[in-house]
Amino acid sequence: MTARILNGAKIRDSIMEELGEQIRDLKTAGITPGLAAVLVGENPASQIYVRSKVKTCESLGLHSEKIEWPADTSTERLLGLVDDLNRRAEIDGILVQLPLPPQVDSKAVLEAVSPAKDVDGFHPVNIGNLVSGRLGLVPCTPAGIIEILRRSGITMQGARAVIIGRSDIVGKPVAMLLLHNHATVTICHSRTRDLPAVAREADILVAAIGKPAFVTGEFIKPGAAVIDVGINRLTTEEEVRRIFHAPAAALEKLQSKGSVLVGDVQPEDVQEKAGAYTPVPGGVGPLTIAMLMANTVQAARLRRGIPSAKSAGR
Ligand code: NAD
Repeated sequence: MTARILNGAKIRDSIMEELGEQIRDLKTAGITPGLAAVLVGENPASQIYVRSKVKTCESLGLHSEKIEWPADTSTERLLGLVDDLNRRAEIDGILVQLPLPPQVDSKAVLEAVSPAKDVDGFHPVNIGNLVSGRLGLVPCTPAGIIEILRRSGITMQGARAVIIGRSDIVGKPVAMLLLHNHATVTICHSRTRDLPAVAREADILVAAIGKPAFVTGEFIKPGAAVIDVGINRLTTEEEVRRIFHAPAAALEKLQSKGSVLVGDVQPEDVQEKAGAYTPVPGGVGPLTIAMLMANTVQAARLRRGIPSAKSAGR
C-alpha cells in the first residue's frame, strides 16, 4: 500500500487565501488586525521564526511590529513591555517568542499577556476555554493538525486517536481538540506501558515527542492516518545511516545541505503502512504560522465583538 501524502503547504495556502479575504473585509470596516512579536536575545532559530512570522503578516496586509530586545533584559522590563502592548488599541495579538533567556521568568511574562491578545493560546484562561470547549484562541500547531485532518477528509468522529507526547504546547491541546471533534482519545508518554501496542490501536496517530524516527512500523495500524509533529535535524552520517533503511538520498542531502530533517516517525515505514501521513518537512510545519495569522484575525474580531467567520482551526 502506498500512503496518501497530506500536503501541509497546500493546506496552508488555502487557509491563507481565506484569511486574505477575511482581512480585506475587516479592512473595509476600518479594522487592520495587528500582531506584535517580541524577541529577546539572539537565538538564531528564534530570529528566523520571528522574521518569517512578521513577513507572513506583511504578505497578508496585517499590521505587524517586531520588538527586539537584548539578551540581558530583565523580567520587570519585559512585563512593562507586555503591559504597554496589552493597552495599545492597534495591537490585537502579542507573541512572545520562546525560549526567553534564563534570567527571565517566562511563566510570569506569558501570564502577563492579556488573554484577549494571547495568539499563541498559552495563557491559563485560554487553556481553560479550550478544555471547556469555548474555543477562542487555540494553540497554533494543534489547531493546524485539526485543519489538516478536516481538510483532508479524515474522519475524527468515533475514530480512535492516540497521541504520543503530553506537552502543554502540542500533546495536551491536540488531545482536547480531537476530543471536541468526537474522537476517542488516548494520550501516551514516556511511562506508557507497551507503547507500540497502544499506538497500533489508532486510526489517527499523532507523534509529538521530539525524537527522530521514534515511531516505527510496529506502532502503525495498516491504513492509519499518521500526523508527525516532530522536527529533528540530523547532522552526521552515522545518524542518517541509523535512521534510514535506504539512506542514499538522505546522505546526498546531508552532503549538499549539511543536515537532514526528520520527524518523530520513521519516514519509510510510514509510507509503507499508513493510509495517509504528513511528511517532514512540508506537513504540520507550514500550518503553524498560518494558524498564528488565523488567531490574530480571530483576536481582532473577538476584541470588537464581531462574530467569527467560520475560522480555521476551531
Ligand atoms: P516536549 O519535549 O515538550 O514534549 C515531548 C513529549 O514526548 C513529552 O510529553 C514526553 O512525555 C514525550 N516523550 C518523550 N520521550 C518519550 C518516550 N520515550 N516515549 C513516549 N513519549 C515520550 O516537545 P513538544 O514541544 O511537544 O514538541 C515535540 C516535537 O514537535 C519536537 O520535535 C518539536 O520540535 C516539534 N514541534 C513542531 C512544531 C511544528 O510547527 N511543526 C511545533 C511545536 C513542536
